Amino acid sequence: MPPTAAPKTPGNAPLSAPARAMKKLGLLRDIDTALHLPLRYVDETRITPIGTLRDGATGLVQGTVVDSRVEQRGRRQLVVRLADDSGELVMRLLHFYPSQQKALAAGALVRARGEVRAGFFGREMVHPEFRVVAPGTPLPTTLTPVYPSSAALPQAYLRKAVASALQRAPLEELLPAALLPPGLPSLREALQALHHPAKDLDPATLEDHSHPAWQRLKFDELLAQQLSQAQAQAERAKLAAPVLRPGPLTAKFEAALPFALTAAQRRVVAEIQADLRRPQPMHRLLQGDVGSGKTIVAALAAAAAIDAGWQCALMAPTEILAEQHFRKLVGWLQPLGLTVAWLTGSRKGKARAAMVAQVARGEAQLVVGTHAVIQDDVAFAKLGLAVVDEQHRFGVAQRLALRRKLEAQSLEPHLLMMSATPIPRTLAMSYFADLDVSTIDELPPGRTPIVTKVFEDGKRDAVIARIAAEVAQGRQVYWVCPLVEESEHIDLQNATATHAALSAALPGTVVGLLHGRMKAAEKAAVMALFTRGDMKLLVATTVIEVGVDVPNASLMVVEHAERFGLAQLHQLRGRVGRGAVASVCVLLYTSPLSPTGKARLKAMAETNDGFEIARRDLDIRGPGEFMGARQSGDALLRFADLAEDAPLLEAARTLAPRLLREHPQAAAAHVERWLASKAEFLKA
Ligand code: ADP
Ligand code: MG
Repeated sequence: MPPTAAPKTPGNAPLSAPARAMKKLGLLRDIDTALHLPLRYVDETRITPIGTLRDGATGLVQGTVVDSRVEQRGRRQLVVRLADDSGELVMRLLHFYPSQQKALAAGALVRARGEVRAGFFGREMVHPEFRVVAPGTPLPTTLTPVYPSSAALPQAYLRKAVASALQRAPLEELLPAALLPPGLPSLREALQALHHPAKDLDPATLEDHSHPAWQRLKFDELLAQQLSQAQAQAERAKLAAPVLRPGPLTAKFEAALPFALTAAQRRVVAEIQADLRRPQPMHRLLQGDVGSGKTIVAALAAAAAIDAGWQCALMAPTEILAEQHFRKLVGWLQPLGLTVAWLTGSRKGKARAAMVAQVARGEAQLVVGTHAVIQDDVAFAKLGLAVVDEQHRFGVAQRLALRRKLEAQSLEPHLLMMSATPIPRTLAMSYFADLDVSTIDELPPGRTPIVTKVFEDGKRDAVIARIAAEVAQGRQVYWVCPLVEESEHIDLQNATATHAALSAALPGTVVGLLHGRMKAAEKAAVMALFTRGDMKLLVATTVIEVGVDVPNASLMVVEHAERFGLAQLHQLRGRVGRGAVASVCVLLYTSPLSPTGKARLKAMAETNDGFEIARRDLDIRGPGEFMGARQSGDALLRFADLAEDAPLLEAARTLAPRLLREHPQAAAAHVERWLASKAEFLKA
C-alpha cells in the first residue's frame, strides 16, 4: 500500500506546516499515525462548577464571558471574566491573536481547562486551554489524548489526524487468536482504548504501560522483530558459502600452540568449525570477556579456511588493535609457511600496492588490517572467511562491504564477529536473535583477579607513590586520561600536562605519551618501547582501550573515571591482569559524582565479570549503546522495554517460528505492518 499522508494533501500541493511536521515525526502511513500514542491524557469529560474549584486544582470549567478587555499591567494582556451559576473567574492571556480577542467577546460561551490560582484579578486561570462553544455542545465521552508533538504541530491538529488515521488504517486482526497470549485485546481495540480511553478509566494504568492495550502493542512489536530476524536467517540459509574443513595446517597449528586451550575455547572452536563445514554462510558472534583469548580462536578458524584453499580477512577498528592481531597471527602462522598481509590507512604507496597485489593473486592467505581491508581497490582472490573484531565498532555498511568482497564467485564468505562486550540475554534474544552466539565464559588459567579501587582525585599523591613502588619492582603502569583535544573548552586534564607532571614526580622513570593525534608511526614506536619493557609508565588517552597486550603491566590508573562509560572502563581495565602478577586498577574521580557516575564506579569496584558489567550497563543506560552495528537514528523498539517486558519477549520468541511455519502469510503481513519502513535496515 502506498504511504498515505494524514490528513491528505491534494495532488502535488506543498504540504502545510503541520503536515510537514507530521512527516518529520515519521507519521507517513495511516498505520504509523495510528501508532503514534499519547504521552498522557486530560479529563474533559466533566465540567466543574467554577465556585467549587479549589485553589491549585486543575479542572474544566464552562462559563459565559461577562467582560473582556485588554489591560496594560506591566505588559499587554487579555483579561476575560467568566461566570457560571456557581461563581466567577478570570482567564488571563498574555499572548493572544486579534481573532481570539474577538471570539472571547461578552456573551460567548467558553470551555476552559487549567489550574486555578488566586491572582491579581481574583481567582484566575493563566493561559488555560480553551475554546468557544455553542450552547448545548456535548462533552467528550472519552479522555482527551495529549500526543508527543513539536511546536509546528498543534495538539488539535494531531488529534484530528490520529483520529482519522485510526479510522482508515488497516487494523484487521492478522494473527490467529488462539496463538496470542491470553487476555490481550485486538490491535484495533487496543489502539481505540489508547487513543480514546473510556472516561472512567484511571489514566495512570495507561500511562505506566501496564494496561493490556499496551501489552498488545508491545507484543506485536516484539513479534515483528522476531519474525523479521527469523526471515533474515532463513534468507541467509539460502545463500551459498564455501565449505571450509580443517586439514593438515590446522593440525600442525594445534600441535604447535603456545598453550593449552581452555575448555571454553575448545567448545567455541568446535562450534565455529561446525559452521564452517556447512555450505551456508556462518553468521556467528564470538563473545568473551577481555583477555579470555578470542584471538587464538579466530586464528584456528582462519587455519580451517586456509586449509580448504580460501583466504581469511581479519578487520579491527583501530590500527593499534589490528597491529596486535597482526603480530600474534604472524607469530603463530608464519612459521607454518603462511603469508600474512597487513593493510591499514597508514600503509600507502608501493608497500600498499604490493600487498593489494598479493591479496588479489591469493598469495596472502591471511589479511589483517583496519577499514583499509574493505577499500574498493582490495580484491580478494578467494575470500572464504571474514573476522570482525570489536564488531560493535563497525557499521552495517562496513560489514556488508566485507561480505560483498566475494560477490564475483556468487558465494558469500563466512562471517565471525568478535566482541568483548557481552550482549545481555534480553538483547541477544531480541535485536540479535538472528545471530548465532558462541561464548568464552572462562579465562585462561593462572590469572590473578584485578583489584579495583575508587579514589577521589585528592588521593593523587598516594597513587603516584604506588606507581613508584610498582616500577621499583620491575612492573609497568598505564595512566589513562580522557583527553578530548578537539574540545579545548572541556575542562579535562590534558594528557600532555599530565605526562609532564608525572615525569617530574617520578624522576628516573621512563614515561611515555600516547594519544590519538599522534602519527601511526609515532604511536607504534611508543608502543614498541612499552611492549619491550623499556618504558615503565605509559600516559595515554583511550587509544589503548583495546588490544594492548603487555602482561608485565600490573597497575592502571584511570583519571576522571566518571567520564567513561562502563563498558569502556571494563575494556580499559582488561589491559592489566594479563600475566600472573596481582594487578590493581585505580579509578580516580572528581566530585561531585552524578548518580550514574556513582553507579558505574560502584559496578567496577564490585565485579570483574564482563557479563555482570554488561547487565548493569544495560540497567544504567538502556539498550541503545549495545546496539553498535545495529544502532540507527531511531530506536527499533518504540513500545516494548526489554527489561520490563521479558515475558512478552519470550512469548513472541516462541510464537515466531510457529507462525512462520503454520501461517506464513500472516507472518509476512505482520512484519509489513510493523517494519515496512525499516525492512532494509534489518536485513544488514
Ligand atoms: P581477548 O579475548 O581479549 O582478545 P586475547 O586473545 O588477546 O584476548 O588473549 C589474551 C592473552 O591470553 C593473550 O596474551 C593470549 O595469548 C593469552 N591466551 C589466550 N588463550 C590462552 C590459554 N588458553 N592459555 C594461556 N594463555 C592464553
Ligand atoms: Mg582481542
